Amino acid sequence: MINNISLKEIGKMLQDAESILLFPHENADGDALGSCVALCTTLRNEGKRASVYVGEKPADYISFIAGDCCVTENLREENPDICLCVDCSEESRIPGRLNAYNSGKVRLTVDHHLATGGFGDYYYIDEKAAATGELIYDIIREMGAEMSRPAAEALFVAISTDTGNFRHSNTTPKTHRMAAELLEAGIDRNRVMVELYENVDLRQLKVKAAALDEMEIFAGGKGAITRVSRDMLDGAGASDEHGETVIDMLRDIKGVEIAAVLKEKSDGRIKVSLRAKSAGRVNEIAAKFGGGGHVKAAGCTLEMSPEEALETMKREITHSLEGISGGNK
Ligand code: 5GP
Ligand code: MN
Repeated sequence: MINNISLKEIGKMLQDAESILLFPHENADGDALGSCVALCTTLRNEGKRASVYVGEKPADYISFIAGDCCVTENLREENPDICLCVDCSEESRIPGRLNAYNSGKVRLTVDHHLATGGFGDYYYIDEKAAATGELIYDIIREMGAEMSRPAAEALFVAISTDTGNFRHSNTTPKTHRMAAELLEAGIDRNRVMVELYENVDLRQLKVKAAALDEMEIFAGGKGAITRVSRDMLDGAGASDEHGETVIDMLRDIKGVEIAAVLKEKSDGRIKVSLRAKSAGRVNEIAAKFGGGGHVKAAGCTLEMSPEEALETMKREITHSLEGISGGNK
């Protein structure tokens, strides 16, 4: 945990402000968008001008929670009282929006990624929180605001997606208690589950099939790696977001401890997704290449050829697996 302000103080600052602009990280996931939408909705209910300044259109699978909260550059508030960066605490993850963030009279950050330093004027970064949504939940409670149904739904999405639907090791009794309260706020649980998990786009499955075809198992069965190339996406009529769940398929394989997916971006860079199942520590691998994240879910971006990226990651993962007790037998 690193913080120079409490959640109670953040709640008070928000209550004292008139205009608030919220910043999810680029390619916002369920936690980033859900946390922002929940807070935005609550702040509006409290009579404030609030919006979520997004880097791009929300991904299809979470767009059902966005409501009318999201704005882009030309519609955003100028010099808001508060700019709040949500679910990230690094400038590199709000590219193109950094000037807007810095235009806030006060700059805040609420996050749960391991961080080496603070970001903004005031920050609250708790890596033990399963999702930033948990911290936003506490802030809404500290504000003394009512938990509306749309806010509860957005927070439920935040918490469900960042915990792998309450499966990952970051899930705590507190996570379940919050989820219970959010359900009591009257959310349509079945709708949320269908939207998030039973609504798979066929293009996503086609990308998975192509990626599975190229997968390599290495390090005695403990490593799994594949790539999502532009050709694979084009072949499936898919876009980047359709390759995002390939990593889960690899991690779920019996015996695999560390999985990696190399995603070729349209600018030629390679975005790496890393996951560990039990004892692996993939944040350490990502950090070597300027990335970061959590112990069991991390990422980085490589500027090298696909072949070089593949060899580099296999080498790093093998090395990391050797460091785990029992070695890589
Ligand atoms: P994903 O593989 O889903 O893109 O990312 C997994 C986790 O690693 C997420 O929590 C995400 O925030 C973090 N992450 C992914 N890429 C980067 C990166 O380039 N830098 C940092 N600091 N974190 C990243
Ligand atoms: Mn998160």
